[in-house]
Amino acid sequence: MQGLKGKTVLVTGGANGIGLSICRRFAAAGCTVAIMDMDATAAEAAADELHRSGATALVAVADVSDYEQVRQAIAGLESDIDILVNNAGWDRFMPFVQTTPDLWHKVLGINLFGAMNTVHSVLPGMLARGQGRIIAIASDSGRVGATGEVSYSASKGGVIAMTKAVAREVATSGVTANVVCPGPTDTAMLSAVVNSSSKPDKLSDALLRAIPMRRLGKSDDVAGMVAFLASDEASFITGQVISVSGGLTMCG
Ligand code: NAD
Repeated sequence: MQGLKGKTVLVTGGANGIGLSICRRFAAAGCTVAIMDMDATAAEAAADELHRSGATALVAVADVSDYEQVRQAIAGLESDIDILVNNAGWDRFMPFVQTTPDLWHKVLGINLFGAMNTVHSVLPGMLARGQGRIIAIASDSGRVGATGEVSYSASKGGVIAMTKAVAREVATSGVTANVVCPGPTDTAMLSAVVNSSSKPDKLSDALLRAIPMRRLGKSDDVAGMVAFLASDEASFITGQVISVSGGLTMCG
């Protein structure tokens, strides 16, 4: 893909799962990869792996839900961020009536405010340079809703709307903003969500049956779409929401 080599990409939640696959993809394309994660050990391990592959990798340890931590971590990178991938996320599977406001605040704090914190921190630099790419990893649950994931669906719907609004607001500036929605993808997060349900086996079967392609996503499935949206090929695409979910949702 054109236009990625030499760019600096910040990937939140880049130490594991989908985020790590995205980091590997950008590293292979010749980008400098900045991993923002609250798991310092995993972030350092991911950066070591990217270094060994010949890439330049930076680590920014921060809890994305904390605005000041995010700002300080980005300032500490001392790099202009060309591409922002809002990937960090968290979820628990539970009927809405059993959830508590504390859980809602945690889910929205990480998934929605985390994304707002990073966009608010990097967008001024992108606007000043007249170029930038923002890609949010939301979820099909944010498009159609998901049983047992009411606050998570709300947070991902919020990420979709926020990213579209940013895309519209800065459309003439050279900055694009788009959303990728994975479906159920085989990562530690999915295992934790499934195992936190009262009937994990039943939930796993139901997820598989709901996916027309009849398999879970792999974290590498998502990375290619993210790289495409960051590339020159996608320069006329903004404010769009694309599912990478084996056909789970087919939204018009
Ligand atoms: P994961 O749990 O495997 O990895 C998430 C990473 O984010 C971890 O490295 C974790 O340390 C980091 N993280 C979590 N909270 C953080 C915080 N507050 N601050 C900084 N870092 C934080 O998860 P994943 O499955 O790779 O999910 C990545 C994204 O994809 C999330 O936004 C998730 O909602 C979305 N998603 C995942 C699935 C799925 O089935 N796995 C489906 C749809 C959407």
